[in-house]
Amino acid sequence: MELLIAGAQRLRIHLKAEHISAFRVYQEELVAWNQKFNLTAITDDEGIQVRHFLDSISCLLGQEGEERFAGKTVIDVGTGAGFPGIPLKILCPGMRLTLVEATAKKVGFLKHIVTLLGLEGVDMLHQRAEEVGTATGHRECYDWALARAVADMPILAEYLLPLVKVGGRVLAQKGEGAPAEVQRGEWAVRQLGGHVRRLVPVELRGLAETRYLVILDKIATTPPQYPRRSGMPSKRPLQP
Ligand code: SAH
Repeated sequence: MELLIAGAQRLRIHLKAEHISAFRVYQEELVAWNQKFNLTAITDDEGIQVRHFLDSISCLLGQEGEERFAGKTVIDVGTGAGFPGIPLKILCPGMRLTLVEATAKKVGFLKHIVTLLGLEGVDMLHQRAEEVGTATGHRECYDWALARAVADMPILAEYLLPLVKVGGRVLAQKGEGAPAEVQRGEWAVRQLGGHVRRLVPVELRGLAETRYLVILDKIATTPPQYPRRSGMPSKRPLQP
């Protein structure tokens, strides 16, 4: 776990022994399950530690001042094998985490790993974001909605903003194209009750490209027609 430990230090994130042993178990299970189920394209030690674990916990840099994920309701949409939600939950046991994933085999892995790691206060929804976003008990209920590598900004905004309560925030992890992508998504963000707060550049040790945390504020209720029915946000992304 040296790459993860050194990379976290660089980000001023302190990992305790118990965190490191949890990540070790997570890595072993990911590799083992991947041989059967093809959960992720990244399966080498270095890739898992840097591109999965370190990149996920870098979301902590999107918090401001005394604000923390701990004690908050957080929903991770299109979490796949648990990124970024599960690594964040390992570091912040006090957050209430909901994982949304449309693919059954990935939900199977999520259930397994959450049980094995003994993580409490994690709910799993085997659903599409568009369904969750219209459901009572989920719509406008969350302090934070997160996503990594799920969709282009205008589509992602329609998945995430309906889930967040007014006063809450969206955090989208993006690559080098983030500034341009955000510009293209700004109209959709406004339609959905959001406002672009800031982009936080993140340099990960051992990774050449700059990563970005795109932070949106939810400033108004999302109009009831959003999200549109499943498949529509990606088929016809919101545009002016
Ligand atoms: N966030 C993970 C997985 C990225 S791959 C990571 O960064 O590693 C994108 C995942 O989002 C896939 O597992 C896919 O099944 C899921 N997904 C895509 N669109 C979705 C939607 N509308 N609702 C729920 N899950 C979705």
